[in-house]
Amino acid sequence: SKTLRLILGDQLNSKHSWFSKTDSSVTYLMMEVKQETDYVRHHIQKVVAFFLAMRTFADQLKKDGHRVLYFKLDDPENQQCFEKQLSLLVKKENFTRFEYQFPDEYRLDQQLKKLGGNLSLETQAADSEHFLTSREFLKDFFKGKKTYLMETFYREMRKQYEILMDGKEPLTGQWNYDQDNRQALKDKKLLQKPLLHPKNVQEIVQMIESAGVKTIGNLDPQNFPWPVSRAESLELLDHFCEQLLPNFGAYQDALTTWDPYLFHSRLSFSLNSKMLSPLEVVRKVEDYWHAHQNQIAIAQVEGFIRQIIGWREYMRGIYWTKMPEFAAMNFFGHERKLPEWFWTGKTKMNCLKESIGQSLNLAYAHHIQRLMVTGNFSLLAGIHPDEVDQWYLGIYIDAIEWVEITNTRGMSQFADGGIVGTKPYVSSANYIKKQGNYCDQCAYDSKEKVGDKACPFNSLYWHFYSRNRSLLEKNPRIGMMYRTWDKMGNKQEILDKAEDYLSRLDEL
Ligand code: FAD
Ligand code: SF4
Repeated sequence: SKTLRLILGDQLNSKHSWFSKTDSSVTYLMMEVKQETDYVRHHIQKVVAFFLAMRTFADQLKKDGHRVLYFKLDDPENQQCFEKQLSLLVKKENFTRFEYQFPDEYRLDQQLKKLGGNLSLETQAADSEHFLTSREFLKDFFKGKKTYLMETFYREMRKQYEILMDGKEPLTGQWNYDQDNRQALKDKKLLQKPLLHPKNVQEIVQMIESAGVKTIGNLDPQNFPWPVSRAESLELLDHFCEQLLPNFGAYQDALTTWDPYLFHSRLSFSLNSKMLSPLEVVRKVEDYWHAHQNQIAIAQVEGFIRQIIGWREYMRGIYWTKMPEFAAMNFFGHERKLPEWFWTGKTKMNCLKESIGQSLNLAYAHHIQRLMVTGNFSLLAGIHPDEVDQWYLGIYIDAIEWVEITNTRGMSQFADGGIVGTKPYVSSANYIKKQGNYCDQCAYDSKEKVGDKACPFNSLYWHFYSRNRSLLEKNPRIGMMYRTWDKMGNKQEILDKAEDYLSRLDEL
């Protein structure tokens, strides 16, 4: 028998059992296809990163003695879509069996299921051997429960995998140190130089452009900075442990013009493409902490581990529990378009200018920029969740639907009505001011709600609560807000100011 095994661009897991031995009857297929470059307009760095990482992976497989068919985007034999390519190959090379790894995206899952059926070959799907839980775990774990509490799930992961545990109890007596981890960064000197992996990518950029792929964002083709191999990803992980982990938790929520990365790991692309596994990252960090306990506080380490075995894994569970309905949810019925400056960064609001500007230049923003600046603004301004999703899915190096949509539509836009979060993540200028220095250099005044220079976040914040009163008032975590609002003197003036801003979002 002759077997064809498909490897998708985000399945670069060299530790997968498929590769544990070479077999001359097995051929691996990898392809750069228009289908994947064009389902949304991606950042140029994201397209380059995936293609380069795929090529590096294929080369390694070949070196290890596997048979690999690799179709570059401009290969004349590239059919640009999985169906066509597969049926051609099956005919040409007489494959008798087709295998693939379960994709992480609903769209591809449907497509590959259908394809397997159409090929009239023996077809088998295998696990991707990456995540800590199966697709169904979260659904079964919360069976019969109305809400899916992340913290409950996270503790289960800690126990199951014995991470930071002492028997059945958390190693240091406390599960969660989130309370310690909300500081603004006051001292520039703490910042570290990022570990970049500069490469010249002129050739691949040219190929992408000649193929007519439309992209967003900027790139210096002499200095493409992202890790595209397992070895580079492991270097980035070491760098994180040595230089960034000691301050990770403390400044996780900081917002500053001083540095685009702060103490964040930049590991999301390596993880989402599966060059690194979540468990190896977490074990490495835990071991590093054990060896350096006198230098690194548990709060830093627990905060990081929670993001990976908690949030990341939980989001994946939510995705497979709630798709495809999730992708159409719009709890508040929001309808507006994203302002033009989301694609240029040209806004007078400094927090947005900085967060969007760096996203366009680096294909990266850290969590609090995504959640409390761009996400917060989109929710307050009543932007349609489809618009918001498209933007996030395109712009970030790590954006793959299973983790993008659950974070964007769920956590950030509350369009799911409270599946992922218990209340909407919205704030006025107050929060952004408290977390760093964005407001110090802004054309708007963070303290004003009305008047020419009033920060738009302030009036939009109250407009959001006011217009959604019937949907939110009964939420026990929100009721208080309405008592504050009811006592405010100049309500109409604030709502009028918000209406004024909403009528000319493009000019802000
Ligand atoms: P670090 O801060 O160093 O965190 C370490 C790792 O934890 C990350 O690499 C990531 O794998 C994981 N992680 C942290 N927070 C989350 C989270 N909320 N959900 C899932 N994993 C998490 N993450 C993506 O990987 N892809 C996305 O498309 C994506 N879209 C987002 C959209 C919005 C609106 C928001 C609010 C968050 C989004 N996130 C997304 C989550 C998070 O912002 C990124 O994972 C993180 O900023 C990546 O940078 P880092 O690797 O330096 O993360
Ligand atoms: Fe952002 Fe308002 Fe602060 Fe300006 S004043 S940086 S718009 S929060």
